[in-house]
Amino acid sequence: MVTIGVLALQGAFIEHQQMLEKVGARTVQVRLPQHLHDLDGLVIPGGESTTIGKLAIAYGLIDPLRHFAQSKPTWGTCAGLIFLAKDIGIDSQPILGLMDVCVDRNAFGRQADSFEVDLPIKGLKGDTPFHAIFIRAPIVRAVSEGVETLAQIDDNTIVAVRQRHLLGTAFHPELTKDLRLHQYFYDMVAETDSSSP
Ligand code: GLN
Repeated sequence: MVTIGVLALQGAFIEHQQMLEKVGARTVQVRLPQHLHDLDGLVIPGGESTTIGKLAIAYGLIDPLRHFAQSKPTWGTCAGLIFLAKDIGIDSQPILGLMDVCVDRNAFGRQADSFEVDLPIKGLKGDTPFHAIFIRAPIVRAVSEGVETLAQIDDNTIVAVRQRHLLGTAFHPELTKDLRLHQYFYDMVAETDSSSP
């Protein structure tokens, strides 16, 4: 059975857990380094990336998370994408700095500028677009070689990316009823799991 951890310091972790369980994963809430043991994959939820970073430092999680996400499937949504990125244009904010993308925080404006859009996403099963909810969302301003763009909103703004075992989405799939992205990540984890020695 595939076991997926959900970083549970702050933000929408319970909703992710429920979605992951619906697609067949066992889930674990990650608050301390030892909770990473025996996980096959990890979700870093949306919330507030500065708070997630501060709490990760307080609980001694930065290095263990970085080590984990260097090789194991890890999916960052919204604040989680910010936390995974290599470049967020701010040196003072703690991040894992693993994904070769340049991310702009709060790129659409304030909380009141949150919005929803039907988004075609590469690799998702079915023909229907994904109903994507953006809440003070970041955008991916630039990607390096090796990073695949999975979704853009109409003006070509990149909002979903994959780099090998790392997945990043700027919106909140856990706030919809559509399980396809959680299924996509579950499949990433299951594939990695069966290919490891
Ligand atoms: N604006 C938040 C941040 O910068 C992200 C918002 C979210 O995760 N919905 O961390």
